[in-house]
Amino acid sequence: MAVEVVEAPWGAGVPVERFEEILKADKSHLIKAVLVTHNETATGVRSDIAAVRRALDAAGHSALLLVDGVSSIGCMDFRMDEWAVDVAVTGSQKGFMLPVGLAIVAFSRRAIAAIEQADLPRTFFDVRDMARSYANGAYPYTPAVGLLNGLKVSAEMLMAEGLENVFARHRRIASGVRAAVAAWGLELCAAEPSLYSETVSAIRTPSGFDANTIISHAAQKYDVAFGVSLGEVAGKLFRIGHLGSLTDVMMLSGLAAAEMAMADVGIPIRLGSGVAAAQDHYRAAHADRYKVAA
Ligand SMILES: *Cc1c(COP(=O)(O)O)cnc(C)c1O
Repeated sequence: MAVEVVEAPWGAGVPVERFEEILKADKSHLIKAVLVTHNETATGVRSDIAAVRRALDAAGHSALLLVDGVSSIGCMDFRMDEWAVDVAVTGSQKGFMLPVGLAIVAFSRRAIAAIEQADLPRTFFDVRDMARSYANGAYPYTPAVGLLNGLKVSAEMLMAEGLENVFARHRRIASGVRAAVAAWGLELCAAEPSLYSETVSAIRTPSGFDANTIISHAAQKYDVAFGVSLGEVAGKLFRIGHLGSLTDVMMLSGLAAAEMAMADVGIPIRLGSGVAAAQDHYRAAHADRYKVAA
């Protein structure tokens, strides 16, 4: 199997136009699948999956659309049917608020047909074993019962809150984080607002400050885990995850910790500036819901 990697700058989204060119040039449909990440967790960039679907359609191409939704599904709007996604994958450990251990995968009918036709060797894992067992209310291996029970509860929690409300909460919390970042005078890795992730913010540190020092300092001194930076942006940014079981007030404590860690390493941050900006944002967002009677 040959994989063609389509490079994009760190902080940019999926280069949809380039995809369309490549698909249009592939007249004999040698490309079997297009793989994209909905929410790129290292850079805090959300790509436009609907646009990738449009690129496939514009090229009249039959390739399957495979989407990594690990850090978006259950937190941000994801339209498997509307976007005609063929395989969507997520995990138990992000939007589903569980320990790590489950891969949750959804297949379209076209993807199931492709699985049936494929003659790839299957030695370790075959989803057909799963499908056969599920049909009989069983599982082909020892099931991760604890995680599956947890998934039942977390799915019920998400449905009880209402997916629209879950998505709105993530949007609100993320906007508060971005208000804090702006108040600090810092910038996100994501190149423009349409790419901003609602589940993770990657914050560029001023030049001369190693972001990984901030992260290790925050961990050692304040017991707060920020995300490290990888690859091309290593040492240039730190990440704040804001997804799952999270409230505005919990987020404020993370922002306060980031301020202390940045101040400790000498970044000229005024303590409370980002927290106050996020507080303003959260109070305004709730103003309608919690109007206090005069
Ligand atoms: C967390 C994450 C992964 C990694 O999931 P694993 O369970 O560690 O394999 C993959 N893709 C994205 C977009 C993620 O956010």
